[in-house]
Amino acid sequence: MLINTNIARMPGSYLFQEIANRLTKYEENRVGRKLIRLGIGDVTMPLPKYIAEKFAEAALNMSTKEGFKGYPPGSGYPFLINKIIEHDYITRGVKLSEDEVFISDGAKTDTGAIQELFSPSAKIAFTDPVYPVYVDSNAMAGRLGEYKNGQWQRAQYLPTTGENGFVPPLPDNDVDVLYLCYPNNPTGTVLTREQLKKYVDWARENDAIIVYDAAYKAFISDENIPLSIYEVEGAKEVAIECCSFSKTAGFTGVRCAYTVIPKEIQGSDSEGNKYSLNKMWLRRLGSKSNGVSYPVQVAAAATYDNEGKTAINETIGYYMENAKILGAVLAKCNISFQGGIHAPYIWLKTPMSMDSWSFFDYLLHNCQIAGTPGVGFGPSGEGYFRLTAFGDRENAVEAASRILETFRG
Ligand code: PLP
Repeated sequence: MLINTNIARMPGSYLFQEIANRLTKYEENRVGRKLIRLGIGDVTMPLPKYIAEKFAEAALNMSTKEGFKGYPPGSGYPFLINKIIEHDYITRGVKLSEDEVFISDGAKTDTGAIQELFSPSAKIAFTDPVYPVYVDSNAMAGRLGEYKNGQWQRAQYLPTTGENGFVPPLPDNDVDVLYLCYPNNPTGTVLTREQLKKYVDWARENDAIIVYDAAYKAFISDENIPLSIYEVEGAKEVAIECCSFSKTAGFTGVRCAYTVIPKEIQGSDSEGNKYSLNKMWLRRLGSKSNGVSYPVQVAAAATYDNEGKTAINETIGYYMENAKILGAVLAKCNISFQGGIHAPYIWLKTPMSMDSWSFFDYLLHNCQIAGTPGVGFGPSGEGYFRLTAFGDRENAVEAASRILETFRG
């Protein structure tokens, strides 16, 4: 049997493996203070009771003759799709129709699968650092060429660092697809409407499309920052948007997300014939998915009820208070950082010009804090480091006090 060498020859998932190895070794020899983990990208607060009750109720209904449900509609139940349109889009002045929203089990699933719509020879651009799923899924499809010196040779990396104020440059004009993620994982930064418009205009002018990952939009705390790329004029013709209930509502273990593909977006074949990406995605889903379970979609819909909304906002507020505590202590120690305001991530410039892994070891040995080396998210992450706010308050406070003790001038 001949194998898919694009997968077989993928570089290993080095980052989290290496972190786990170093932490295990450290824990084996540790004496004294407990380790505080500020590297986690998973939520830690339980599901709000109101939402869990709706989830359970829906599951129990399935045990009755009247309430039983078989296969769900492939692109999602209208009751959830309409809540999404009403609460996440109409409130921002964006009109969508029911058949432009597709429910799925995760933004990872969708951001990983969306590349199936692109030609094997499509040229792809990513911000650097980047959420690795966009890169890996295109590499596995054989679209990125060879992996040499830490980079895929056919991909365009857009360095996003302190030097350009964490605003990625526009891709080359021959790029077909640009992946953007805002609020950004890992840098914690956001784009203003004017900044976002530049990418939309670039895509329109160059017959390109944007895959916009808005998995962290619930953390945006400024009315003027766009929650959706469709708040930018013309974006419906060029952008696909992926959103998730994972970080918004603590659904990392429940699994529910959605992707918007407006009917206006078109791609072409080599003869210039136009095709609707919305229709292509629907066709693909029909062959590859039987949808998301009924209780999960009921639970997701409950996040839009007043009680659900209040509870999830409280949880987000809790994480963002952690971020505030960590940010305040970094500022006190003159460690420069981004994020922590509209995102649960803090992206700091490593002090004393340490590289990312040296800082990982330094923080571990001096503060007993584990974070994530920035270089693990791409070559331009070198010299940076990510802390997350998803832990509990006690740990955030204790971590802040240890950082202050170690780095105060
Ligand atoms: N997109 C980004 C940028 C993420 O950081 C994550 C998870 O960490 C996801 C998507 C995954 O979302 P989901 O849990 O819906 O698969």
